[in-house]
Amino acid sequence: MAKIYYDGDADLELLKGKNVAVIGYGSQGHAHALNLKESGVDVVVGLYEGSKSWKVAEKDGLVVKTVEKASEEADVIMMLIPDTVQPAVYKKYVHEALEEGNMLMFAHGFNIHYQQIIPPSYVDVTMVAPKSPGHIVRRMYQEGKGVPALVAVHQDYSGKALDLALAYAKAIGCTRAGVIETTFREETETDLFGEQVDLCGGVAELIKATWETMVEAGYQPEVAYFEALHELKLIVDLIYEGGIYAMWYSVSDTAKYGGMTRGKRIINESVKEEMRKILKEIQSGEFAREWILENMAGRPSYSRLLEMEKNHPIEEVGKELRKMMPWLKGIDTE
Ligand code: NDP
Ligand code: MG
Ligand code: MG
Repeated sequence: MAKIYYDGDADLELLKGKNVAVIGYGSQGHAHALNLKESGVDVVVGLYEGSKSWKVAEKDGLVVKTVEKASEEADVIMMLIPDTVQPAVYKKYVHEALEEGNMLMFAHGFNIHYQQIIPPSYVDVTMVAPKSPGHIVRRMYQEGKGVPALVAVHQDYSGKALDLALAYAKAIGCTRAGVIETTFREETETDLFGEQVDLCGGVAELIKATWETMVEAGYQPEVAYFEALHELKLIVDLIYEGGIYAMWYSVSDTAKYGGMTRGKRIINESVKEEMRKILKEIQSGEFAREWILENMAGRPSYSRLLEMEKNHPIEEVGKELRKMMPWLKGIDTE
């Protein structure tokens, strides 16, 4: 069973007298910086000149400096800019700024695990990865609660890396909920596998294939949209609140019997065999290599695939149907 740390296992005092730089003020960055500040930690936000977030962070009452300046002054540096831009920013501004005994932190393990960032040996390297988007990390903290997180140590120079990382986790509210010990490798590989196989990749293909099958058989695209896509939220909400059995418990007996007997024909052994292949590509570093090269080449496949997703016929139907649903706020993708 996983080792889980709570408030009593973490000591905020360890951060006293230390300067913490939160690099980036996006989803995670704003939540970490504000929670740290309200926990009494000396925090500075690191951004680039002309950054949109700079003004936002200042309006929120935070001190903002360039990444270079913030990193130089910091004892603890948390990297909360997009994973794809981290290596360049790290090389340019952070690497040089790291002094003996500093701690470099991440909220996702990709760049360390796949060696896109190679920190000097004389610093601690840790991860505190909240298992929620930033706005929930922030809201739960404000409500006196917290969100669960993962903690990992990649490099323990000081001999106190885990304790210091746990102090950080406490300062952003995560030990109130529970912080699960993991490794950079486990966090990175499971994160990639989840988003490729069911969360993003799998669920998008499942919806499209379900919808296409109905439309190709002559059913109206609008009616098929409700069944293939719209109702998925009801099902996922039930699973999220209570687990898969709670979903079965809540749907009709016909849905139960049909789903239990047919579902296994959709996600069958050959699908699982493909899942194992995808996992191997992640574990071997093949996927990471492909994605890094794709970025270096200016993202040709990525852009083409995204364009295809944008132009899939289900998107047109969805745009019209969602206008009939006044409770939906919509998401601006332009
Ligand atoms: P965001 O995409 O929200 O980060 C955007 C922020 O980074 C903005 O403040 C942006 O400034 C700034 N930024 C972009 N480029 C640069 C640059 N070159 N130099 C300095 N600042 C820059 O990131 P997330 O919060 O989504 O992710 C941060 C980390 O947290 C990642 O490692 C991610 O994997 C991890 N994570 C994310 C979760 C999430 O819910 N999003 C959950 C758990 C972990 P501006 O807008 O002004 O350009
Ligand atoms: Mg991910
Ligand atoms: Mg139905």
